Amino acid sequence: MALCQFQLCKIPEVGLRLGVLTLSATQLERRGLVPHLTPDNEERLTPGILAVFAEHLMRQMLNNRINWTLLDIRDPALPHVAAPHANKFYRTETMGGIRQLSPAKYMGMVNQCQPEIFVAMAEDLNGPDETEARIKKSVVHSLAWLDECLRLRQPASTSAAFANLNGSRLTDLRIQSATESARRPVDGFVLNDLYHAPSAEMQLDWITASLAPLPAAKPRLAYRIEDPHQILRAVARGVDLFDASYPLAQADRGHALDFTFGSEATPSSATGQATSLHHDMNDPIYKSDLTPLDAACPCLACTRYTRAYLYHLHMTKEMLARVLVTLHNLTVFDRFFAAIRASLHRGDFTKEAAEFERRYTLP
Ligand SMILES: [Zn+2]
Repeated sequence: MALCQFQLCKIPEVGLRLGVLTLSATQLERRGLVPHLTPDNEERLTPGILAVFAEHLMRQMLNNRINWTLLDIRDPALPHVAAPHANKFYRTETMGGIRQLSPAKYMGMVNQCQPEIFVAMAEDLNGPDETEARIKKSVVHSLAWLDECLRLRQPASTSAAFANLNGSRLTDLRIQSATESARRPVDGFVLNDLYHAPSAEMQLDWITASLAPLPAAKPRLAYRIEDPHQILRAVARGVDLFDASYPLAQADRGHALDFTFGSEATPSSATGQATSLHHDMNDPIYKSDLTPLDAACPCLACTRYTRAYLYHLHMTKEMLARVLVTLHNLTVFDRFFAAIRASLHRGDFTKEAAEFERRYTLP
């Protein structure tokens, strides 16, 4: 199935979009698998898009069976210091040390792996405080690398090409990057530098500037939007795809997610009290709690185990603690996006998003 055949099936409210295959979160891969999950556990997840990164692929072959694949160079959820890039090479830190990646080498990977989507090479920055000259240079380099990646794509390739949009804090450059990228024969776009934004409000401004010049019919992926509140605001501005870094990061902290969107109201919402987005499974209040984490959740953790057992696993630092909470968190995240899609179909997204803001405390 070719993912490049994106279509917007409905735009229920001005500014809101609902793609046939969009509005969901890509799973993030490390060394061939979703973090903490073995292949049998990974198959419990709803099939979707698995993001695979060249910095891991340099030592690990693709080990994907059930998902569509998105190939990019750098995992946005891992700490990273952008090395100065030469005109002809992207420098990235891998398990084998710093490696240089030319467009020819990267497109060799793309042409060999034939992912459903590949993200063109782009020059990344270390934060919003880079000099104006460096930011401008990164936009120019990225457009040149985009052209080179498109030129090197095999003529018969069915892989959809996504352009990397950048420009950091400079609105004019963000607009230039998006406008110039949209003129190329690409199938979608990636906003890859949003986690450098100094505040949630500024991140939304960056999103707005980058999305304004883009054609409505092509999907937009935003990496590392940090929490469900911000995801809803990004959806309202026209972002179609996200990644699963939030539920994975929460699982690493021992936080089991507990939120629903739209008509799937939780008992706590009936009280009118704002409630937390997660349970901290390190908290002794769960020591003797023999109820499931969430009686309505179909995941392995909720259907087989109690909160007391999950607390015990966290206290004894058992590997199974991460496995179960990761499975649960990814299930909650998947249901969150399914509920958003349903809300967009019904045409009550704006009302439900406001209710979500009221129902859950900000992280
Ligand atoms: Zn669950």
